[in-house]
Amino acid sequence: MEKLKTQLLILGGGPGGYVSAIRAGRLGIKTTLVERHKVGGVCLNYGCIPSKALLGKTALLQALKKGKRFGLSAENVNLDFKRLSQFKNQVVGGLVKGIETILNDAGVDIIFQEGKFKDEHILELATGQHLEFAQAIIATGSHNKELPGLEVDGKYIIDSSGALALEEVPASLLVVGAGAIGLEMGLIFHRLGAEVTVVELMPEILPGMDKELAGILRNILTKEGLQFNIGSQVESIQKSPEGFSQVKISGSAERMKYQKILVAVGRSPNVEALSNLDLNYSKGKFIETDDWMNTSIPNIKAVGDVAGMPLLAHKASHQGLMAVEDFAGIPEKGLLPPVPGAVFTEPEFASVGFTLENAEQEGLSAKEYLFPLQAVPRARAMGVAEGAFKVVTDERGKLIGVHILAPEAGELLAEASLALSLGLSVEDITHNIHIHPTLSEGLLEACLLAKGSKIHI
Ligand SMILES: Cc1cc2nc3c(=O)[nH]c(=O)nc-3n(C[C@H](O)[C@H](O)[C@H](O)COP(=O)(O)OP(=O)(O)OC[C@H]3O[C@@H](n4cnc5c(N)ncnc54)[C@H](O)[C@@H]3O)c2cc1C
Repeated sequence: MEKLKTQLLILGGGPGGYVSAIRAGRLGIKTTLVERHKVGGVCLNYGCIPSKALLGKTALLQALKKGKRFGLSAENVNLDFKRLSQFKNQVVGGLVKGIETILNDAGVDIIFQEGKFKDEHILELATGQHLEFAQAIIATGSHNKELPGLEVDGKYIIDSSGALALEEVPASLLVVGAGAIGLEMGLIFHRLGAEVTVVELMPEILPGMDKELAGILRNILTKEGLQFNIGSQVESIQKSPEGFSQVKISGSAERMKYQKILVAVGRSPNVEALSNLDLNYSKGKFIETDDWMNTSIPNIKAVGDVAGMPLLAHKASHQGLMAVEDFAGIPEKGLLPPVPGAVFTEPEFASVGFTLENAEQEGLSAKEYLFPLQAVPRARAMGVAEGAFKVVTDERGKLIGVHILAPEAGELLAEASLALSLGLSVEDITHNIHIHPTLSEGLLEACLLAKGSKIHI
């Protein structure tokens, strides 16, 4: 059998792997990308993109339905779920094709097969062929975490990929886990007409994010029609031949009937292909890396979900670029900056850096300042009022965290991310003129408040 050889092997073609491959190819490194399914990984095929296609269009439906108070009358507005799914699939298909084209343009060899490391210089492909490499980047990503007693069966119990592939809107949906994925999926199906209940073990939704803003978001979503059981868990389920499950949730006396149960309690790293490598792992079996994504094996780096939290596409891609440039000997630009993240509910909830609680746990002397969304004129003009801009500062007024609950918070957060990565202070933000009337004035006002010169409250 012909022996394949490459300089740089990249295992996994998600946002971590394919971005690494494009950069490496364009730097003139002989690069081979091995992917068992489709380029784009979870993000493009089963995550970020299909979920946002559905969220965006269902938000439009919701906006039309809620337009009465502005004088908008749109009776019998409906969304054809089949047509919407086709739109989602077209978006995904187009982007996957586009990435393949760019990979080819960058001179990357793509092998569509499952790979398993034989040792630190050989990858064995599913066909049995060996691919010899000098250096490697592991970007194998993650999969839905299992929950004992609620094993995914594709019929009664589904994961996020199963939810995105549904051909009909279920009459009722129980979402187990109120993280970003659970809330986004719950909101999509609620808007499409399902009765949605969310169960979360922790005392508040979106564990790890700012609790006060998470509480405001929970109230908004409750008014919208989602039901929440926080500090609760599924105690038992009984699947019925009619296609429903009877579910007992702790704290509720009765069993409730759900057509589908979505398990969204986190993700586990894909490490089956790595069992012949002597890698160090951290809690949860994520690969341990240093600041340059080096693993315990000198010629192998790891990026993205498989290399640990936060499990976000843009973190995976950024790490991929850092890893390739380090391999290529390009001078370092610095460590991984604070990683921003967003939950694409309505309003969106975006965050970067420390919450006050995290900062205090780290022994920092921090303070937080909250500016309400209702005091931002643009928000009032848009007819939205619930939300907030919160900044967390250290004792010298340096920004160490920003948390925004507002429409388009994911877009608004870019200024804050830049501020944190450059080590800017609240004073610096107040020297930046913000266009009026825009939602971005909320961050300005929160920083004015933090430096003791509040204006609009
Ligand atoms: C429903 C959902 C919504 C999400 N929304 C967002 C969002 O809005 N924003 C955001 O930033 N993140 C979001 N995420 C998270 C995001 O998808 C991941 O953080 C991102 O995909 C991680 O990229 P990665 O390259 O590390 O791994 P992955 O995207 O998981 O890609 C890994 C790739 O490796 C391949 N692979 C694995 N093992 C092998 C092997 N042995 N041989 C060959 N190929 C292999 C897999 O087939 C896969 O294509 C979402 C996730 C989900 C599930």
